[in-house]
Amino acid sequence: MEIKRGIAVSPGVAIGPALVLDTEGFRIPQRFIHPEEVAGEVDRLKRALAAAAAQTRDTQKAVTDKLGGQYGAIFGSHALMIADPGLAREVEGLIREQHYTAEYAVSRVIRRYAKAMESIDDSYLAGRVSDLFDIEKRILTNLLGQRREQIRHLSQSVIVLAHDLTPSETATLDTSRVHGFATEAGGRTSHTAIVAGVLEIPAVVGLGKFVTDVSGGDLVIVDGNRGLLILDPDEETLARYEKTRSQMKSFESGLNELRDLPAVTRDGVHVALLGNIEFPHESAHCLERGAEGVGLYRTEFLYLDKQADPTEAEHLDAYMTVLRALGPKRPVVIRTLDLGADKFLPRSEAGHHERNPFLGLRSVRLCLRNLTLFKTQMRAILRASAVGDVRLMFPMISTVLELRQCKMILAEVKEDLEYEGIAFNPDLPVGTMIEVPSAAILAEQLAREVDFFSIGTNDLVQYTLAADRNNEAVASLYNPCDPAVLRLIDNVVRAGRKAEISVNVCGEMSGDPQYTMLLLGLGIRQLSATPHNLPEVKRIIRSVTVEETVAVAQEAMRLETARDVNNYLREQTRRILPEVWN
Ligand code: PEP
Ligand code: MG
Repeated sequence: MEIKRGIAVSPGVAIGPALVLDTEGFRIPQRFIHPEEVAGEVDRLKRALAAAAAQTRDTQKAVTDKLGGQYGAIFGSHALMIADPGLAREVEGLIREQHYTAEYAVSRVIRRYAKAMESIDDSYLAGRVSDLFDIEKRILTNLLGQRREQIRHLSQSVIVLAHDLTPSETATLDTSRVHGFATEAGGRTSHTAIVAGVLEIPAVVGLGKFVTDVSGGDLVIVDGNRGLLILDPDEETLARYEKTRSQMKSFESGLNELRDLPAVTRDGVHVALLGNIEFPHESAHCLERGAEGVGLYRTEFLYLDKQADPTEAEHLDAYMTVLRALGPKRPVVIRTLDLGADKFLPRSEAGHHERNPFLGLRSVRLCLRNLTLFKTQMRAILRASAVGDVRLMFPMISTVLELRQCKMILAEVKEDLEYEGIAFNPDLPVGTMIEVPSAAILAEQLAREVDFFSIGTNDLVQYTLAADRNNEAVASLYNPCDPAVLRLIDNVVRAGRKAEISVNVCGEMSGDPQYTMLLLGLGIRQLSATPHNLPEVKRIIRSVTVEETVAVAQEAMRLETARDVNNYLREQTRRILPEVWN
């Protein structure tokens, strides 16, 4: 048995056989398949060889057209080598007899050829070794691509293990088959982690190297509560986790009973609990968990699996689906496209690589550069506002001027709609995310410009501490309890109070019960989180008085390190609700 420690990003326990997606660095580990998988693996090999040969012939043609036949011939010989029946036979033999994965078998055979070539005292042949590695890479790219495709068409239950998963890959996991996942890379608030929470499957990220230690089909446990991946568990551990899994089910059904109870503190103060959604169908999750509305609709997920930018009709259709599910009274905060960085890119930016995308042309900056994109979405949001309590929110605002520019464009769109006689709410509430330190510092000025604030702690933490939210190597620095972050939140709440506008928190911090008392004590009266987390947060709210939370926040603000704040908050939460921690 081996236990790996990582970052817990979606709670629960999953137990099952591993489906390993290989790393992309082409360091193919020795990995075995089960005897019944041999036929499928040989089929995979054949498809990969055929695809690799065809691609190489395409390259031959392109190079010939551009540089002439003698250069194209290099790739012609590559194609011949890939299509060589001797190569296929040898690799297939290893799959059938040794039960190697196709990737490992290809790697073994080609590396043996390379060694043999290198040992011959012939400088021409030695120079051809790099051709072999080229061929290996071409075949492996095809095999690994297929492996990643496989997760969309699973026929049995698995736990996905990978170096990393993109938010799109995670969002398209078939949760009737994938019961959990664990990755080597990633951080607490990476979008992959957020999507895992939405899917409500246990997940652990940032585990560091482990993919090479597992074979497909090995039994593994993902402990999404404590951030553990357990490889090859012993019987006692397995029995313990099976028990935990059933206990958690009954704990969750207890939480569900909270759904219809109000989120009110013991001294009668109401806290609005809202849901974060990425897809319209999650409106149902919000209702199931007792959310009062949607506090953050991450509309950039409309780009998932899309070849073109969404049209006005597609935007509107998605918003109307949410409004129909929630009814006209519940608020729905639609955030304008927050594209770029680790999320999706609009078509116009495809192929545009930035050296530092998190500090680059992302989110509202991108929209301001692409007014067609921006206005198309604004039109749809305004049209939806005619039928429900829609509110519009801008992400990543970093200066007052930027916010004014966004509002100016909104005013233009309103004029257009008015001219066209299309209905919308002229008093559509407009808010801004506060997720860049400059915005938190200038909150007083920004508060005069908007109807509400929503603090995006996921980005606010990364930008305040200069610690990438996706990078497990700096995960210890990335801490929402850092005193610097607390001061910024405090500043935003004060500014909001002074301007008499509401202040919401919609980063992952708001769904973690450990921070509930702190946020209430700082003056927050509205939290928006992954619906799954709302019952636990509500239970904390219903167990405390505002006075108690103020005392907790004051003590937390006195502490000098994130570690001390964390320990203190954990202690206080355990005191109030011991079962949350057990
Ligand atoms: C945030 O940054 O806290 C936030 C809610 O936005 P996102 O996670 O989509 O960047
Ligand atoms: Mg953000």
